[in-house]
Amino acid sequence: MRVTFPHMGTSHIAFKHLINNLGHEAIVPPAPSKRTLSLGVRHAPEFACIPFKILLGSYIEALENGAEMIISSGGVGPCRAGIYGLLHEEILKDLGYDFEMLIFEPPLRGLLDFIKKIGRVIRPTRVSWPTFIKVFKTSWQKLIILDETEILSHQIRPYEVIRGETTRAFKEALTLIDKAETRQELDSAGQAAEMLLRDVTQDRSRKPLRIGLIGEIYVVLEPFINLDIEKTLGEMGVETHRSIYLTDWTRDNTVFDGEKDIKNAAKPYLNQLIGGHGINSVGETVLYASNGFDGVIQLAPFTCIPEIVAKSILNRVSRDLNIPVLTLFLDEQTGTAGAQTRLEAFTDLLLQKRRNKGDLDATGIFGN
Ligand code: SF4
Repeated sequence: MRVTFPHMGTSHIAFKHLINNLGHEAIVPPAPSKRTLSLGVRHAPEFACIPFKILLGSYIEALENGAEMIISSGGVGPCRAGIYGLLHEEILKDLGYDFEMLIFEPPLRGLLDFIKKIGRVIRPTRVSWPTFIKVFKTSWQKLIILDETEILSHQIRPYEVIRGETTRAFKEALTLIDKAETRQELDSAGQAAEMLLRDVTQDRSRKPLRIGLIGEIYVVLEPFINLDIEKTLGEMGVETHRSIYLTDWTRDNTVFDGEKDIKNAAKPYLNQLIGGHGINSVGETVLYASNGFDGVIQLAPFTCIPEIVAKSILNRVSRDLNIPVLTLFLDEQTGTAGAQTRLEAFTDLLLQKRRNKGDLDATGIFGN
């Protein structure tokens, strides 16, 4: 069967491995582009949030490329994500596409349903459960290595001497990880990826600003929607720390009931779930403030209620803990030039704040 799935940062590399090794053919959705977005906007309800539109556009592109099954995740809690899979399915079927949709809900909420759906994937190719577990473990390892490599790239980029060298090394590293099939090959690919990044020419005398990135998971993970913010800031000489990676999120929301530290940190300001990543955005800002970060950027899809609620609370967190917070609302109208100007103004403010504290070595764009 030809199987597709959402495009989310670099995770398609691991999902492709999983699907292909379960005896199906992975139809990797093209990286989201203007076409993806315009397809999504054309067929989605007007006030749907941008993740909904991008996913819809991605599914259309994958179905055009021959996908017969779409695997997606559901959601729980007071946010629209829980019904998005069903809505996507209805819209796509109305458009005339013939496919099967498999929506995985978190196993912590319904283990039997989760197992049944895995059975639906492995039955047609007669893959045994032990083989499934083996393939799943290798794919999981791939996902971990992808996340580790990306984290390292964000740590190195603000020190690079030749603009773009880190991004080039990172892309090369992704190719190596993509090619690795066995656990042994993956270990070697992970080591080679690390060496490629550490070999980037760096000026370690810089003292870059440190900014934490928070917000809704899909816009935080998918660079097309967030205007490639980590690369943009990194090349401006800013070290970014992303609050969430797919491996952390999967561990905390499917296997363990995690994120307790974040929820505890949010408690003085917000002590109940508001859906999406609203509570995380508040808790993570508190944690960034207590870890000495210079500022926080909230990435919020336009019309996303959890992030709108979080934003109103963040004004107080920012005042109380003296940490500047910039919110970027993202939708199909968001332009790169406008966002770039706001990022530059924000980093100027943070630099000024550091200098006011007597840190005259604080560095901004390329160490200046
Ligand atoms: S969290 Fe926000 S952006 Fe994500 S699905 Fe819910 S409403 Fe949409």
